[in-house]
Order: sequence, then C-alpha cells, then structure tokens
Amino acid sequence: MVSRTKISILVVAGGRGSRAGEGLPKQYRPLCGKTVLARTLAAMRAGAPEATLKVVIHPDDYDLYAQSAAELSAQERAALSQPALGGATRQESVRNGLEALACDAAPDIVLIHDAARPFASPALIARAMQAARQHGAAVPGVPLNDTVKEIDASGFVVETPDRARLRAVQTPQSFRFPLILRAHRAAAEAPRDYTDDAMIAEAAGCAVHVFPGDLSNFKLTTPEDFARAMDQLTPPPPADDERNLTDVRTHKNLTDVRTGQGYDVHAFAEGDQVWLGSVSIPHSHSLAGHSDADVLMHAITDAVLGAIAEGDIGAHFPPSDPQWKGAPSSIFLEHACKLVCARGGMIAHIDATVVCEAPKVGPHRDAIRASLAKIMGLDAGRVAIKATTTEKLGFTGRREGIAALAIATVRLPD
Ligand code: MG
Repeated sequence: MVSRTKISILVVAGGRGSRAGEGLPKQYRPLCGKTVLARTLAAMRAGAPEATLKVVIHPDDYDLYAQSAAELSAQERAALSQPALGGATRQESVRNGLEALACDAAPDIVLIHDAARPFASPALIARAMQAARQHGAAVPGVPLNDTVKEIDASGFVVETPDRARLRAVQTPQSFRFPLILRAHRAAAEAPRDYTDDAMIAEAAGCAVHVFPGDLSNFKLTTPEDFARAMDQLTPPPPADDERNLTDVRTHKNLTDVRTGQGYDVHAFAEGDQVWLGSVSIPHSHSLAGHSDADVLMHAITDAVLGAIAEGDIGAHFPPSDPQWKGAPSSIFLEHACKLVCARGGMIAHIDATVVCEAPKVGPHRDAIRASLAKIMGLDAGRVAIKATTTEKLGFTGRREGIAALAIATVRLPD
C-alpha cells in the first residue's frame, strides 16, 4: 500500500562550498530572507508531508543548522530528525546519513537531495517517490542544450555522443532504502569516488531509471546562480502585463537602475565596543544612539531606501518609538531590503566608507562585509567597505564620533 510506505528524505548539507561568494557555506547563505537550507527543507516537506527529514551537516555547522531549522514552521520542524554528521566527501556524508537512518528505523524509500537545490517542486518530489517504488533506483534528468564532447588528455575530441540520449541529472535521487544502503556500503570499500548516488547504485549492478527533472530545480553554486534564485523568488508581474513571465524573472530585465546615498554620524559615549555592520569591535568608547548606533548600517539603510525613494530610516523606525531602543540595526537594513524585494528588484552593489581615527576598521573589513552580505542576502563581492581618517581634522579627527557614507545601487524592473 502506497500510504504505508515509510519515506525519509536525506538532505546533504555537509559541504564547505563557498564558490557562490565569500563567507558561509552556500547552504547556510540567506536567500530573500531565509537560508537556502531552510528553503530546501520547506520544499521537501511541501512535496512529501508524510516523510521524515534528516540533514547531514558538517560537525562545525551545528549552530548554523539550528538557525536554519529555527526558520521553519513548527510543522516543518516536526518532520526533522536528529542531523547526521558528514564525512570528508559527499559520498561519505551520504553513507553516514544512510547509516543514521538505518539506526533510527529504516525507511522503505529514501530520497537523497542536495541542500543547495531549494526549488524542487512537489510534482518533482512525487515523481521521485513514484519512480523509487516502481524501479528501485531513479534519478531526475533534464535534456542537454549543449552538444557534449568527450576529449582525450591532449584536449582533442574522441567522440560526440548523441545529445538526444544524454541527460543532466539532478536530485532528489530516489531509492529503495536497503538497495542504496547496500550499494553505499559496497562503494565504501571501492578505491574510487563516486559523484552521485546513482553511480553507486550502478556500480552495485542496479538498473537506474531516469525520470523527468525540472529546469527550475537548479543547484546554487556560483554568484550568478544566487542572482537567478533571487529572480525566481521575485513576485511575478501583474496579470495585465503582456511581457513574457520568464523574461522579467531574469535580472537582465531589471533595467531600471537606481542609486541612493546615505550618511550618518554617531558621537562617542562611554563604553567598550562599537557596532559596525553588526560586527562588534572592541574600543575605548561606544557610540551613543537610540538603537545599537550602528552608524555604518544606518548609512547603508538610508542609501537603499534612497535608491527606491522610500524616505529615510527615521520615517520607518522613528527614534521616538521605544520599541527600537537598543534594537539591532540589522532590523532596519532587512526592512529596506524587503522593500526592494517587494518591488521585484535586487540590490546590485553597496559601497560604503567609515570615517574615524579609531578604531581601526581594516582588520574587521572582511567580517563586516560578510555580515552585511548575509543580512542583505548578497554575495560579499557586492559589498565594498572602505575606511579613512580625516587627518585629525574636524569632529572625526578629534575622536568625537564616527561618520559613515554609503551608496547603494539597486536594479528594479522597468
Ligand atoms: Mg544613526
């Protein structure tokens, strides 16, 4: 009986891959207000509400995993079982996950899915489950647009396979659980690395069925993939808009390029740290202010608001409102970013300058960039932070406070 089948979904999130940008492993990077992993888990839960979810994580990432889990709804979280710890390779991580499932209470069917594919649709997940029931081992595949060449070590073509017979495979790959567990155990003894779980099933002599994948179920690897993902999450245009829907979702169509500037100053007061871009920097003083006085974040928030002509930070978060007392300024910047997202736009670039004699910003520059990039859901390559003194001139030169200037470039649909 279909309804009696026990299904587990193993989400592989053990990688350290940061090709998509500096800082965090890509599965923990924010994407329009939620981490990639949280989006992937929510998609899996939506496609298979009856399945249990287990995530394979790197041993250093427990806190990051917990943060992503906290972004899920209570129902989604209820489907999660204890995470398994990954190994040195993807293959080892999957095997650890399968062994953990075997210990929990082995499922009948397992779907193995990449954490960096947040766009698996319910229809795709249903196809994966059905294919595993029917064939034992199955993978989603999409036709190739490019002609593929096999080359030799000198770079010469050996063969041109018939493109019509080729498929690029995705995840979730689906298997009868005992079959893939046995295949993985055997593969662990083999002196080679396999690049996907289907190969491991093939090596164990199983016939692997290929069912239709989905082009929108792409894997987030490069900064361009993140830009495409943000486009995919952008609300569609109004119904009376005659433009092609696919067209407006590519950021080539965000042709209305705006620039906003922001400027802010906070005075020094008693204390031992200043906040710059949500990074705490030890100092002989703190900055005075109603919120956490993160002068850099305030300048950037105003620049983003300026680019979309949405007033300034004080208009959205009045200093007279006691609820913002001591508030982390990331709330302000997140709000500004959501306004850009709601317009179907994206932040293309931030360039900011911190003006002070002390503390020294340089040693914290990369941490600040990573922190701001995370808050804005951007690649750190789109966030520039500079620092300067004023040669002891003026209020910053007299060490009375810190000033910050920022420019935001925002792209909106035309
Ligand atoms: Mg301020």
